[in-house]
Amino acid sequence: MNDISSLLPDALLVGQLIDTVPSPVFYKDVDGRYLGCNTAFESFCGLQREKLLGKTVYEIWPKDLADTYQAADLALLQKPGFQVYEAALQYADGSRHDVIFHRATFKKRDGSLGGIAGVVWDVTDRKRAEQALRRSEERFRRIVENAPFGVRVTDAKDSIVFINRRFEELVRYSPEQMTTLEQWRSLAYPDPKYRAALAGQQKRDSALLQSGELAHSPVREVHVTCGDGVVRDMEVVVALEDDLVYAVFNDVTERNRAEQALRDVLQAEALHDPLTTLFNRRYLDQALEREFARATRSGKPVAVVMADIDHFKRINDSFGHDCGDEVLRTISRQLSTRIRKGDTVCRYGGEEFTLLFPDTSLESAWERVDRFRQAIRELSVSIDGKPIGRVTVSFGVAAFPEHGDTPDKVLKAADEALLRAKTEGRDRVAAAYRFRI
Ligand code: GH3
Ligand code: MG
Ligand code: MG
Repeated sequence: MNDISSLLPDALLVGQLIDTVPSPVFYKDVDGRYLGCNTAFESFCGLQREKLLGKTVYEIWPKDLADTYQAADLALLQKPGFQVYEAALQYADGSRHDVIFHRATFKKRDGSLGGIAGVVWDVTDRKRAEQALRRSEERFRRIVENAPFGVRVTDAKDSIVFINRRFEELVRYSPEQMTTLEQWRSLAYPDPKYRAALAGQQKRDSALLQSGELAHSPVREVHVTCGDGVVRDMEVVVALEDDLVYAVFNDVTERNRAEQALRDVLQAEALHDPLTTLFNRRYLDQALEREFARATRSGKPVAVVMADIDHFKRINDSFGHDCGDEVLRTISRQLSTRIRKGDTVCRYGGEEFTLLFPDTSLESAWERVDRFRQAIRELSVSIDGKPIGRVTVSFGVAAFPEHGDTPDKVLKAADEALLRAKTEGRDRVAAAYRFRI
């Protein structure tokens, strides 16, 4: 074996070796006098080696620092072995450093205590990096804590390792109630079927995330049963980071409610006539389909009535369009307050209306409508205090399935009956002919 010590005398080799060490290295005798050091130590204390040798700490360092070194030396010499301690120091060039002293006693060849050797390990950069990381973590934690959405982090064993304040506020369970995903799931999703469906979906999402195909899961909407018993709609996005699963929860209950209210309004608007507030023709189409299907199942008839205000043009011409509108509203009110529950009245268009009477034969529809007619002709209609005289309405009645098996056919039959009521003198109810089938 080629031992390097055979190439150089021991002391020379050691001296050269320690000079290559970038950290300051020194050694001193049992009286605390420096025996040697490396180049890094020279710049550490700002002194040439020759000026240092044979000196004690009191001749080199300020008193309080020398006191500290001396105390550490004595402690180590009393109990020979290793010693490690941290200190914040000012170097000879004035710069501040965080250092760790690694010191140890050494023995002479005869085995007696020779002194202390030490290395000053500069950890300033590491400390600064740690501090910066800690600060950035604190900052990030503050952001997450104050975020307007809930954050939950779970580990590979499905333990919940972090939740932010908002998550707790949102779901209204305490951290102690939800320490694992399993606990959370049985609280938040008490219905076993729903819970199983969600678990399946989460498994699929998780496989996609693990394959790296997606950076985060698609936004999923879940219905969370919260600690106060209220079920809230929440959007959830999940992301993986090493072994941790981050889930971000956003309460969208209010948004969903507002959207639903808007949809309801739009739907109501889409199905109603603004002038009379009666249902419109679009609703009539749906109602006819629905009632005819129901009647097909029950085997009962549906009566369909077309109604048209008589000489309405004259009202407009004599009293003005606004007055005509008011008459339309009056007749609408008359019709809608007279129908029974389950019946439908729509504004078909202009001054025409359609009525649907489920479970009603042609005859009884005729009788009911004739009572409407009489009641309307007996009204004394006045608009803005101005009497406008008698208003009459003509009606045509037909029935499903007698006059056709489709809405169009039955409406056509009712319309033809209406036309007959008009030609026969108005202010009357005409039934569609029975032989039309
Ligand atoms: P008939 O007895 O034969 O039904 O005669 P009529 O005058 O009622 O029938 P016509 O079809 O000649 O006239 C209907 C009028 O209804 C014409 C149209 O200007 C008017 N009208 C349609 N829609 C409205 C509305 O929304 N408001 C008002 N004020 N008038 C309307
Ligand atoms: Mg008309
Ligand atoms: Mg008319």
